Amino acid sequence: MEQEFAVPLCLSNAGNTKVGRVWTFSLPSFVTCPGASAWCRQHCYAARFERLRGNCRRAYIRNLALSLEPDRFVADVLKSLPEDAPLVRVHVGGDFYSAEYCASWQGICQARPGTRFWAYTRSWVTAALRPALEQLRSLSNVEVLASLDPQMPPPPESWRTAFIEIDPRASGMPCRHQQGEVDSCLECGYCFRENAGNVVFKVH
Ligand code: SF4
Repeated sequence: MEQEFAVPLCLSNAGNTKVGRVWTFSLPSFVTCPGASAWCRQHCYAARFERLRGNCRRAYIRNLALSLEPDRFVADVLKSLPEDAPLVRVHVGGDFYSAEYCASWQGICQARPGTRFWAYTRSWVTAALRPALEQLRSLSNVEVLASLDPQMPPPPESWRTAFIEIDPRASGMPCRHQQGEVDSCLECGYCFRENAGNVVFKVH
């Protein structure tokens, strides 16, 4: 089960059958997704979830509003996230939408060296965001994977990649949850293990 941060900020540990009981933080989909392709918008599971769960959509909008005030955002996340939280999934929905927002997460991750953070992003395709993402993913307690779909160019070689199985370029380990091998990401651990390799997802 997953837990979402909730303050005025929505950081949660409420549970999600896939991720496992880890902390998660989300933003509204589409408006925070500068790298989203048409394919991604068409298949976005987060947007479907937000349509079904209006309370979550509203919480994610509040998270976005707060994130526009970087100092307050960083302070509120650090206040909401327990010191001993082992693992945070950044963005079950939403994405890194600006360099300033990436820098906020850099500050959060640096302040919590004992916590592991992981994220999938299409924002790598936006040149203006790449330097901030490179800085974020250079931290030893952070794994950022480049999400890729058939409409996107390949990411830089050094990036771990999260493929969609219908992409002819797909190579890597099939997601163990989707294969029925594990109950959750927490049990699997592959994506947030340092330099573990690429992952391949089925279409949601
Ligand atoms: S490969 Fe493992 S860690 Fe990655 S998404 Fe699938 S279950 Fe989660």
